[in-house]
Amino acid sequence: MNEKVKQWINPRVRAMKAYTVPDATGLIKLDAMENPYQWPDDVKQRWLTILSDIEINRYPDANAQDLKNKIREVMAIPENFSILLGNGSDELLLNIALAFAQPDRVFLAPEPSFVMYEAIASMTGAKFKRVPLGADDFSLKRDSILEEINKFNPAVIFLAYPNNPTGNLFDEDNIVEIIKNAPGLVVLDEAYNTFSKKSFIDRLHEFDNCILIRTFSKSGLAGLRLGYLIGSDEWIGELEKIRLPYNINSLTQKTAEFILSNNHLLDEQAIKIREDRDKLFSLLSTIDGVKAWPSDANFILFKVLSKEINEVYDNLKRQGLLIKNLDGQSSLLDCCLRVTVGTESENDTFIKALKNSL
Ligand code: PMP
Repeated sequence: MNEKVKQWINPRVRAMKAYTVPDATGLIKLDAMENPYQWPDDVKQRWLTILSDIEINRYPDANAQDLKNKIREVMAIPENFSILLGNGSDELLLNIALAFAQPDRVFLAPEPSFVMYEAIASMTGAKFKRVPLGADDFSLKRDSILEEINKFNPAVIFLAYPNNPTGNLFDEDNIVEIIKNAPGLVVLDEAYNTFSKKSFIDRLHEFDNCILIRTFSKSGLAGLRLGYLIGSDEWIGELEKIRLPYNINSLTQKTAEFILSNNHLLDEQAIKIREDRDKLFSLLSTIDGVKAWPSDANFILFKVLSKEINEVYDNLKRQGLLIKNLDGQSSLLDCCLRVTVGTESENDTFIKALKNSL
């Protein structure tokens, strides 16, 4: 290894692994919780006209004010909360980590949950504490979390609502109890909010240590990279200092404003995805040797009991399907795979391929 790399790259960074995304060329892509639908041609044409008017030689609006106004209006964000935008909600998570991390500080999240919570702790030098979810139903173990709160005094607690990769919504009273007992900030990550239709937005005013994060990635705009954070002026005022200038580019700003003005499109797609999710769950549940968990998101976690899991995963890939193999990520995910809800025909192809693989 280059001695200078060894000498100067932070050992913490050298110990990390880069986030890798598998090549999906030629495969039906059901691994990343994307919305499978395109926009109708007339909508695409109107969008392209708007894009062609953008002065790409100029920096974007640094505050993305029109977009923030549009998000506030369409998502009914109360006036007493501010909005912070991120290049994907991943960036917002990183901003939070940068604002809170110190070597002696702990970030805490349930296990299994979104892998990026631990990754941003590693990136920023905070310690990370995982608290296992219930083994059968992935429920939040309130008492274990309260115990770990007492022991580790976490600066930040991340709760995904619904949770990834398990797909369930944690019990609301348990979440409230955790927020009330948290010494620091609780981040409620509502990335899959469009599919659960449940949110803490109406209760946010009850707590002075809680913020919400959402993303447009799952509802149909994964390619844009746009996430938003909702919280009090005081929290957002501090996080705003970490945000890089012009982090939301002009194309993203104008595209998101446009699609939010035509929001029925994404809403209709979400309704269809929710219906297809429930069908997919019923189909998965009838397959011998498969256990699927009910989901409030746009994906389903399932376990294969009858065959070696890597063989099943490879077999699906050979048949043209890319899903997510979670085996080995946590002891609670042994023999587990996660499939994103696709179009009706993609879901049918997946079910057939899965049956062939067993
Ligand atoms: N939060 C959760 C719970 C997620 O599952 C994801 C994406 N997998 C994200 C945040 C990040 O989404 P994005 O950066 O695309 O907004």
